[in-house]
Amino acid sequence: MTQTLSNLIDGRLTAPANGRYLEVFEPATGRCYALAPDSDSADVALALTSAQQAFPDWSQQPSTERARHMNRLADLIETRLEQFAQAESRDSGKPLQLARNVDIPRAVANLRFFAAAITQWASEAHAMEDRALNYTLRQPLGVVACISPWNLPLYLFTWKIAPALAAGNCVLGKPSEVTPLTAQLLAEASIEAGFPPGVLTILHGSGAQTGQALVDHPAIKAISFTGSTRVGAQIALSAARQFKKASLELGGKNATLVFADWNASEAQLDTIVRSAFANQGQICLCGSRILVERSIYAEFRERFVARTRALRVGDPLLPESDLGAVVSQAHFDKVMGCIALAREEGGRILTGGEAVAVPGRCENGWFIAPTVIEGLGAQCRTNQEEIFGPVVTLQPFDDDAQALALANCTNYGLAASVWTRDLTRAHRVAAGLHSGIVWINCWMLRDLRTPFGGVKQSGLGREGGVEALRFFTETKNVCIALDP
Ligand code: NAD
Repeated sequence: MTQTLSNLIDGRLTAPANGRYLEVFEPATGRCYALAPDSDSADVALALTSAQQAFPDWSQQPSTERARHMNRLADLIETRLEQFAQAESRDSGKPLQLARNVDIPRAVANLRFFAAAITQWASEAHAMEDRALNYTLRQPLGVVACISPWNLPLYLFTWKIAPALAAGNCVLGKPSEVTPLTAQLLAEASIEAGFPPGVLTILHGSGAQTGQALVDHPAIKAISFTGSTRVGAQIALSAARQFKKASLELGGKNATLVFADWNASEAQLDTIVRSAFANQGQICLCGSRILVERSIYAEFRERFVARTRALRVGDPLLPESDLGAVVSQAHFDKVMGCIALAREEGGRILTGGEAVAVPGRCENGWFIAPTVIEGLGAQCRTNQEEIFGPVVTLQPFDDDAQALALANCTNYGLAASVWTRDLTRAHRVAAGLHSGIVWINCWMLRDLRTPFGGVKQSGLGREGGVEALRFFTETKNVCIALDP
């Protein structure tokens, strides 16, 4: 049966004003199973009126009171973890175990982390000897928009909403139209958690219509966006015209640097394989260009390919599936097109390179075998453009300088991982990498206090910890003369 989703406006589940809906597909089966509102500027206007009314009271509440609401919401999600995880897996094609163990617990952690952080937040004071005292106020902005992508739906949605609410803003959130289901569950839970109407609004709809209406509206004070570099650039232009704050978390083409002295254990190899293919390679932090020191290249290639071949692609709801389906027909076509391009460019497919047929209920799903390619130059499109699927390349390097040059030679700069037992090299390479995040002998080990974001075309600004709270507040200096 097709489920019909609603917007959350003024504390109530609401149909879109225009009565129009978008189809939502289950990637594992290729079937439409839900309809999501295709909201437009009329819904944005309604939502804004409610959010603007809610703002004075919400922003004036003690931080402990805002934290209490957020913690209640976190508790409700945790109580329904299985329901959320099933919805996330069904909606996005990701393995249920990933949603259960990572996505949904992390959404709970985001809410709890920022609920705690806001009660501990302090600002600076600057004393000018006996002449004056300056202190810094960080005040909420008003109504802000949080726009998120389909790859980690609830995880990234809450990563934005939580600091915005904690800092005292009212939020208009727009989840990806490709994966709206857990946002609907979040809306229902937020009503139950007792958030005052207008504090949290959830608007479903397409990027071009709903997203753009949010970005362009002059009453929206800031945009926190995670998604593609192409859309990020459009948002930056629109925000610049209105001198609006924008935080942009965009695409990546991350390098994994494996040095000859890496700890060649099975556990470390597993982590590198996971960093390549977790969530079908659809994590902005996945390492898609694996650079390997030439002296160990052949041995590493053999082990990496064997481990990749052992990954099981299948029904995301089954516990044995390491990889599920990619998110949509359009994305499936894009990734398969990238593999065809790699072949045209002269790449050798070491494993994968084709769609996977999963019989039974998943026979029409969008499954792709994890794919490893070698023999391509650093400047070819396969090694320069984001694929965002289960596709990686291997390239050899001769020394640290060449490793850095290869790692840094794309327009992106989100994350990198470095695998070496030489601590001095690790520090030196980390300092030389053009990326916002570097992991050494680990991957996606996340401390929510740390700054998160990329350089070059991977983004502008940082999320996480106090960086996020700063983004969602306006800084004001107050100077008091001590001896007027
Ligand atoms: P996308 O840019 O197509 O869409 C992201 C969101 O923006 C969706 O909610 C979409 O509806 C909305 N949107 C689209 N056009 C818009 C417009 N004109 N105005 C306002 N909103 C608009 O991205 P996607 O395909 O959903 O996600 C995949 C991309 O996200 C990849 O490039 C990936 O690297 C990136 N990503 C980055 C990070 C990070 O932290 N840097 C994290 C996850 C994903």
